[in-house]
Amino acid sequence: MRLAPWWSAGIRFACQPECGACCDQPGGVVFLSRSDIHRLAVRHGLTDEAYVERDCTTSQNGRLVLRSRVEDGICIYLGADKRCGVYADRPQQCAAFPWWSENLVNRRAWSQVKSTCPGIDAQDAFLVDGSTILRHIEADLEAGQGVFVPLSPHTAD
Ligand code: SF4
Repeated sequence: MRLAPWWSAGIRFACQPECGACCDQPGGVVFLSRSDIHRLAVRHGLTDEAYVERDCTTSQNGRLVLRSRVEDGICIYLGADKRCGVYADRPQQCAAFPWWSENLVNRRAWSQVKSTCPGIDAQDAFLVDGSTILRHIEADLEAGQGVFVPLSPHTAD
């Protein structure tokens, strides 16, 4: 019999306005899914290929990742006000935070994330149920598989 994961009953969380702590990290790596690339390209009025050329670079094994600012290594979309400039269309890896599999692997890993993310158990937090957490985990894992150039055709989600 397989035990339910420790988080299956849900975890209380509410992202805190103007926090931005999870994005404000030099050297953060944001892998992109194929649908992330298409959505962000449409947002910027570019073809997928032109968007990749402008706003992406590659990881060591060739997966496409978001560019960071040259001067400080922080995401190009994080504004001075600590808000995401593409929030409604942000990559699914970003939308899935803090529900990444490595963060949820055990309570100890989770307490480390909690020490950096004030949204976990915040006063205004609400219960995020286990199936929603699982959907986020899967979205993050999908993005982590990566996209390579040349791009495959985008298919509707
Ligand atoms: S660290 Fe947590 S509370 Fe702060 S922006 Fe990121 S997810 Fe939201």
